[in-house]
Amino acid sequence: SKHYLSDIEIAQQAKLQPIVKIAEKIGLSANDLELYGKYKAKISLEMIDTLHKRPNGKLILVTSINPTPAGEGKSTVTVGLGDALNRLGKNVMLALREPSLGPTMGIKGGACGGGYAQVVPMEDINLHFTGDLHAITTANNALASFIDNHIQQGNLLQIDSRKIIWKRALDINDRALRNIVIGLGGKSNGIPREEHFDITAASEMMAIFCLAENLTDLKERIANIVVAYNMENKPVTVKDLGVEGALTLLLKDAIKPNIVQTLEYTPALIHGGPFANIAHGCNSLLATKTALKLADYVVTEAGFGADLGAEKFLDIKCQKGDISPNAVVIVATIRALKLHGGVSLNELNFESIEGLKAGYANLVKHVETIKAFGLPYVVALNRFSGDTGQEIETFAALCQEQNIPFSLTEVWEKGGAGGIELAEKLVSIIENPQIENNFHPLYASEQSIEEKLLAVVQKVYGGKNVELSALARKQIADIEKNEWSHFPVCIAKTQYSLSDDPKKLGRPENFTITIRELKPSVGAGFIVAYAGEMLTMPGLPKKPAALNMDIDDSGKIKGLF
Ligand code: ADP
Repeated sequence: SKHYLSDIEIAQQAKLQPIVKIAEKIGLSANDLELYGKYKAKISLEMIDTLHKRPNGKLILVTSINPTPAGEGKSTVTVGLGDALNRLGKNVMLALREPSLGPTMGIKGGACGGGYAQVVPMEDINLHFTGDLHAITTANNALASFIDNHIQQGNLLQIDSRKIIWKRALDINDRALRNIVIGLGGKSNGIPREEHFDITAASEMMAIFCLAENLTDLKERIANIVVAYNMENKPVTVKDLGVEGALTLLLKDAIKPNIVQTLEYTPALIHGGPFANIAHGCNSLLATKTALKLADYVVTEAGFGADLGAEKFLDIKCQKGDISPNAVVIVATIRALKLHGGVSLNELNFESIEGLKAGYANLVKHVETIKAFGLPYVVALNRFSGDTGQEIETFAALCQEQNIPFSLTEVWEKGGAGGIELAEKLVSIIENPQIENNFHPLYASEQSIEEKLLAVVQKVYGGKNVELSALARKQIADIEKNEWSHFPVCIAKTQYSLSDDPKKLGRPENFTITIRELKPSVGAGFIVAYAGEMLTMPGLPKKPAALNMDIDDSGKIKGLF
């Protein structure tokens, strides 16, 4: 069989162009950039300020079916599609999320695409990049320390230390920090209390960062964060603590979108990185909006399947930012469909027509979801070398039977050349005035929290109803009392299943989603609802990806996939 180079081997062989050259393609001069070495830069806020009057380009959202643990190649297809549009002569940009070190060290390795469809320099992007995640983590933890100090210094605001909802954060998978006690050691070492860590990608600070339009908006959202409740059960905000200015200045550089390049020299903005299962799952609004002003076509990605990232992209980000996609790509793989059809993880390398046929129902549900949002779409079958001819023919026949437009995509192996057909299909949809785009969110802001949860469960997950724990019911009452019911809901749910049970693969039906707990993210402007056993601080697996990583004397890295 053919020998394939690893992602990092391909990335290391790449000849990069200076980032100043890449930025020129979209009309940016060296003056508009703040350089972080030769191949990374931030775009200055002054530059972004000049863009307001320009028209927006077309927006393509890439989503997928429910993934296997290894990922279905959504980032890979996003990057390859950008390169394919570039080959068609379009002025195109990507807008992607910044990788988190949690999954990088844990199960997934890097998050810069793969094969010949990657953003580079992948070692840098995967490891610290321009420091945004550290800045966000620091702002998050500075706030935690201001809260504890306020209590230590006399607690003028009468914060009930049992009702602090602001948690500390770290950009590492560390299960030992999920539930801890702080402030031990006597009077001068703080007030003892129970504390919790979230991974930075799940923090409200990350969500705020990704939804802020500019520095003023960022500061306002930070000021609105509810950090705790006082002895009378009234919300205590960052504004009450008076630290919104300090926290915003910790993010003054991070807020500027980062620009890098693909292997085929397509400009890419990579900025902000919330997970889609336990957070809202898309790159910063500022990056998306900036890209829409600078390019005619923007390809962006929302995390995990359409039940998670795309739903939140469409119901939260698009509503907040007043943007809408012109078309959607739904990535599917033969491997994942076989898994959904009952084939076990370690048998995915063997042909199974029956498994594929059975698992196809998962794709159909996601197609229905995108249609429910009123959006045109194309399915991209991300081809793996192990897919058999018979399997691909079966997939094509299933799509034809159900009138589902699809394109066989080979960008992992061939770069942009492997995505030309997909790109052409999308261009013809987007440029054709006959094709309808009736984009609308799936619920209205004035509906109740329970109605919003039910709308997502029924229209997106394909479930039957929502069950609220006693705690969740009480929290909804509090949310109503505080007049936060107009916010959208951000449901934290497993990525593996349409239901809240990761073992129910395929297209489960008649299921109930249990909401265990809710948390108002008043700064971000949504209500987080935790479905099932979702954890906001992941743990490491038995054999973390870190075991394969190394760096030699010359600084050459291996094992980042
Ligand atoms: P997602 O964005 O869906 O999580 P990624 O694009 O990050 O998925 O891909 C996950 C991993 O799978 C990467 O290491 C990538 O190189 C690999 N991969 C993606 N597509 C293919 C393919 N067609 N063949 C082989 N490996 C692939």
